[in-house]
Amino acid sequence: MKVQNYINGKFQASNTTQFFDVHDPSNGTIIAKTPLSTQVELDEAVASAKKAFHMWRSTPAVDRVQPLYRLKSLLERDSDLISEILVKEHGKTFSEAKGDLLRGIQMCEVACGIPTLQMGKFSNNVARGIDSYSMRRPLGVFAGINPFNFPAMVPFWFWPFAVATGNTFILKPSERVPMTQEYIFKLIDECGFPPGVISMINGGKELVEGILNHPDIVGVSFVGSTEVAKIVYDKGRANRKRVQALGGAKNFLVMTENASIEKSVRAMVDSCYGCAGERCLAGSVLVGVGKSYENLKEEVIRNAKSVIVGSGLEKETTMGPVISKAAMDRINNDIEMAISEGASIVYDGRDKVPEGEGFYVGPVVLDNIKPGTLMATKEIFGPVIGLMKVDQLAEAIDLINSSSYANTCSIFSNDGMEAQQFIDSVHPSMVGVNLGVPAPMAFFSFGGSKESFFGDVKVHGQSSIEFFTEEHTVMQRWFNLDDNQQLNPHWDQK
Ligand code: NAD
Repeated sequence: MKVQNYINGKFQASNTTQFFDVHDPSNGTIIAKTPLSTQVELDEAVASAKKAFHMWRSTPAVDRVQPLYRLKSLLERDSDLISEILVKEHGKTFSEAKGDLLRGIQMCEVACGIPTLQMGKFSNNVARGIDSYSMRRPLGVFAGINPFNFPAMVPFWFWPFAVATGNTFILKPSERVPMTQEYIFKLIDECGFPPGVISMINGGKELVEGILNHPDIVGVSFVGSTEVAKIVYDKGRANRKRVQALGGAKNFLVMTENASIEKSVRAMVDSCYGCAGERCLAGSVLVGVGKSYENLKEEVIRNAKSVIVGSGLEKETTMGPVISKAAMDRINNDIEMAISEGASIVYDGRDKVPEGEGFYVGPVVLDNIKPGTLMATKEIFGPVIGLMKVDQLAEAIDLINSSSYANTCSIFSNDGMEAQQFIDSVHPSMVGVNLGVPAPMAFFSFGGSKESFFGDVKVHGQSSIEFFTEEHTVMQRWFNLDDNQQLNPHWDQK
């Protein structure tokens, strides 16, 4: 019942007296307790990671990735089991949980290519008789602080890249969903990483503060709400750490008169209701341009009616519960607030949810959303769609760019010129064309802009090499080649 830490290559129970209750959101029961680990335990994890770094950084990259190849196989073997644990503690559907894990596995696959991705550059004879080369070197102990909404995938955004490039890493899962990672660490334990290379410590806010203040941690990767991302970024940078902090989002999906209506709206509704809206790339406000609006509204309501809410482990379920009672209450309050600001509720599926103590919010569609209101500006993080009408595409673009967030946005249109205008003009740095969730693959970089991202270097893909390493440049000359000597006297005779 009490979740364990994994420090210095061993599972261990925390000495803390404080625990956080983990609930099964489908019925409200307590299924585990997350230890709020102590500073002494953090110090122990950091000390073992620091010790391991000296040996690990000089281990050849081809050897460093071998445990990741093994882990990929084990994750695939146990995919159903891990997904079931994930559904129990998080609530999303089984197929969504499988997708969550698959995305994590893909990170391992790309990180296995580090021997190539981390290669340096070489240029000979940059000045007479002088060659120059650069290499990317690891920096030390990194830490990762995770959100609740992707218990398998998000931790993999960071540590496989950090470790494969020669750093050591300490992972802090979200205290709300620690069980998926506890199981994954059982597999990591079998893969042959030396003790201290990859560790896991459980905790909450205080542990994050300990990480940010720790002098032996050189960098922090954070994913969570904007409010906390700002704290993490400011404190981490003040303590001279490298920091990348991914925050919240408000995502607009725009449909023009040139879109394929049925397919577009299906993708838009899936974006909003998938994972019960608890995705940083979830659509929130659906914008209809000109005459497309009436079609959009009609199709959205039709699609919303087909959503089946229930436990994520039931086969027919298409949408599970939200993470907590607090989240459920917050979403219901936001719906009331939106109505008080002039929105009209055109579909309310909140009465079509299982009875009992589960944290269910049925799908909701709100119409007449106006710029500047709560529904147009706040991250709801629940299954609520806001509908909005504009006359021109330019108005939709202005609306997107007026948001303080800039994670993602999409256009649905079959007109390439229109789509190009959209791509060129919008602030969010992850853009979709006829896609509801334009999540970059592991070999591209991920991350938004403005209040959705704090830092200079994005996550996974080639960016992760940049974040987890530092470039070292060498200028080299050998004195036995004097200035006038030909490098190869036989060259002309060949
Ligand atoms: P959260 O900010 O509540 O928690 C994230 C992490 O921060 C947790 O590990 C938690 O223990 C820690 N934490 C919480 N409060 C803290 C505090 N005051 N000081 C220090 N640490 C603290 O986020 P969440 O509710 O777990 O996750 C949902 C949020 O994450 C949403 O806003 C969502 O948009 C965002 N998210 C963003 C992305 C992205 O790529 N931009 C991806 C996934 C989730």
